[in-house]
Amino acid sequence: MAICRYCGQKAGWLSDAHEDCIRKANEGIETLKLAISNAVTAGKTYGDIKASVETVVSGYHIPHPEALAAIKAGWSQGAEQRSKAQPISPDDFDAISDIYKMAGLTKDDIWYKTAGFYAMGFSCLIWTVLHDHIDPYQGPVRFQLQAGEIPVYGIANVLVRQERTTKSYVGGYSGVSMRVANGLYYRLGGMRGHAVESTSLQEVDYGDFLMTTRAIYFGGTEKGTNFRLSYNQVIRFQPCSDAVGICRNGAREQIFAPQQAATAEATRALQDSGWFLFNLLQALAAKDSAAKGY
Ligand SMILES: [Zn+2]
Repeated sequence: MAICRYCGQKAGWLSDAHEDCIRKANEGIETLKLAISNAVTAGKTYGDIKASVETVVSGYHIPHPEALAAIKAGWSQGAEQRSKAQPISPDDFDAISDIYKMAGLTKDDIWYKTAGFYAMGFSCLIWTVLHDHIDPYQGPVRFQLQAGEIPVYGIANVLVRQERTTKSYVGGYSGVSMRVANGLYYRLGGMRGHAVESTSLQEVDYGDFLMTTRAIYFGGTEKGTNFRLSYNQVIRFQPCSDAVGICRNGAREQIFAPQQAATAEATRALQDSGWFLFNLLQALAAKDSAAKGY
């Protein structure tokens, strides 16, 4: 006769857990995930929720490893949500990290292994640009930077695409491009009407992408397309979930999409990094423009 791994009572010949105990534990796991996730998004400390976490764990008979897995998932979800909502300062980074540490997890469980960790790192990088605390990029820089130019973030294996045909539109009117104080351009109220020609995306090249305090660099490994695009040549950035679109004067929009990283987790994070690339580039362009006094 096996013993139920949840309640410690006899479970039966063929099972190591009661159906009811499994259902109850799963309910507890969901409650636990939500409690941790909410604590992270609401800016609470682990101390604020410690008592209720312990009540859930013991009340639902959640085994320790499953409780830790639920805390990890809830933490990651909360950290991701909060990081995308606003830039995370280094102090926020530490306070949010304290929650998983106090709950019994370590850096080894979280760093480079959770979506929340990547989102927090990306968000914090945007914060450092906005607050003039850039920590120069430590990865490989395969470009010749100009004097005083600081590398901020680089990504390998980025696919660049651009529209193959010119769209023509019927109806609508051209929008107003307005230059705002920080030097960025925003397009207001343009109605596109409807396209009469279908467009497709053409692959331009695949390779290294680097963002610095002054410009974007690209070095293609397939077709040898190399360029430096300084921020003052950019008219606007366009966010996509998995990419960022960059429009320069008189040229078609080019879409930069990260493809493959060293690990599955890093790949997943980069393929969902459009929000990060867009906000980082906007911040870098605004700072560059302010520094040059355009
Ligand atoms: Zn049981």
